[in-house]
Amino acid sequence: MPVGFSFDNSYSRLPGHFYARLDPTPVAAPRMVRVNAGLAASLGLDEDELASPEGLEILAGNRVPEGAAPMALAYAGHQFGNFVPQLGDGRAVLLGEVIGRDGVRRDVQLKGSGPTPYSRRGDGRAALGPVLREYIISEAMAALGVPTTRALAAVITGEDVWRETVLPGAVLTRVAASHMRVGTFQYFAARGDTDAVRQLADYAIARHYPEAAQAENPYRALLAGVAGRQAELVARWLLIGFIHGVMNTDNSSISGETIDYGPCAFLDAYEPGKVFSSIDQAGRYAYANQPHMAAWNVTRLAEALLPLLDPDEDEAVVAAEQVLAGFGPAFESAYFSGLLRKIGISAEQEGDRALAQDLLKRMAENGADFTLTFRRLCDAAAEPQGDSPVRELFADGAAYDAWAGVWRARLHNETTGAQAIAAAMRAVNPAFIPRNHLVEEALNAAIERDDFAPFEQLLEVLSRPFDDNLAFARYALPPQPEQRVLRTFCGT
Ligand code: AMP
Ligand code: MG
Repeated sequence: MPVGFSFDNSYSRLPGHFYARLDPTPVAAPRMVRVNAGLAASLGLDEDELASPEGLEILAGNRVPEGAAPMALAYAGHQFGNFVPQLGDGRAVLLGEVIGRDGVRRDVQLKGSGPTPYSRRGDGRAALGPVLREYIISEAMAALGVPTTRALAAVITGEDVWRETVLPGAVLTRVAASHMRVGTFQYFAARGDTDAVRQLADYAIARHYPEAAQAENPYRALLAGVAGRQAELVARWLLIGFIHGVMNTDNSSISGETIDYGPCAFLDAYEPGKVFSSIDQAGRYAYANQPHMAAWNVTRLAEALLPLLDPDEDEAVVAAEQVLAGFGPAFESAYFSGLLRKIGISAEQEGDRALAQDLLKRMAENGADFTLTFRRLCDAAAEPQGDSPVRELFADGAAYDAWAGVWRARLHNETTGAQAIAAAMRAVNPAFIPRNHLVEEALNAAIERDDFAPFEQLLEVLSRPFDDNLAFARYALPPQPEQRVLRTFCGT
């Protein structure tokens, strides 16, 4: 039975200089690692067909499925602040778009599928480790309720890739609301191709911000829409302790999804200045700097859109500044309402933000684990006996006690009872996140011993992050000192 993707490829109807048409490069000996059954079903795809020999050929890039329009997309980008006028999909091919059961159009892309005209000096390939890493973390993010690209499948290519060492090659099938990036707009703006910027903007409006089409100036509404979604996204990252690691404008999605999982990592101990990525030496993309960098990226989008915002250049700048001024308040509102929910407060009162920030300050000073502190705080909200497991996480338990007294008094002002507060807190404070040492453990087993059981087990644990599960207790714990991951590396 043929694998039935019902492709409808709207991006391929855009002008030819938006992409380069090419097929994925076949690989020697593909082997299936995993098909994402739930995601397949939500896209109207048959899991068994995808896992069949023909499905494997497609997911490895050895066969182009019926109806596909394979292409590598053009984009530019600011990498660590430096503008690169041409990046593009150097190791990815968009197969086409499918409309999911929810009516949403999504890209299906092979990542690690061979060289393209945008490969520059790269080999167009991906190593197994980074492919599994993206699979685990993007699926965990989805389960945590964070907008993100998804992983439909991972296959091993049977070919070696050469990095610092020889590694097994792999291909990830990525599903995204789209692959338009801030850098896609920059690509055309840098060439002075205002027609293309307009065509791309019209396409982005139709696909992601249809309400903007009714606005007095649809392009301002587009900019405001992207700013709003990026502000919301970065707030959600902070609230679960996520550090993206490479927030370059080419990794900043117009749809508002988290995209391009390279050296990303989750906080263990709360440390606002935390950086894991080996290439982020200046700490540009440190945990607490992420809102500033998201705003910086949206400002680059505003620059690219300037000719569309107003025919008069000065007026266009004023319009852009008006929209950009909304980023900070949008971020703060999303961040603080989320932070207050994490400590059991449903409707903000005077002093609540300071109360929440005081907890974070004490956590930072006492090396408290971010995820576990908030999770254990749920039990402390239910009953005061829950305090001692929280205070254990603080180097000086008294630092928690002093805060807990004020907090508990504040919770008396809530309209719901202790059990209801605790339940609401458990729905926003995950027990399970993809902790760096667990991810590394799963990757090492796969790479060194061809053992995918830890990878499968971790995916299962992370699929229900808000449910306590005693059988998974070990996965909720912070790393022992010798397990601690100090550095993460780019997927390239
Ligand atoms: P990233 O840091 O993964 O977002 O990638 C930045 C740019 O480098 C993008 O244009 C990628 O397509 C390109 N790139 C990354 N790795 C490779 C590779 N192995 N071969 C070719 N291009 C690559
Ligand atoms: Mg990228």
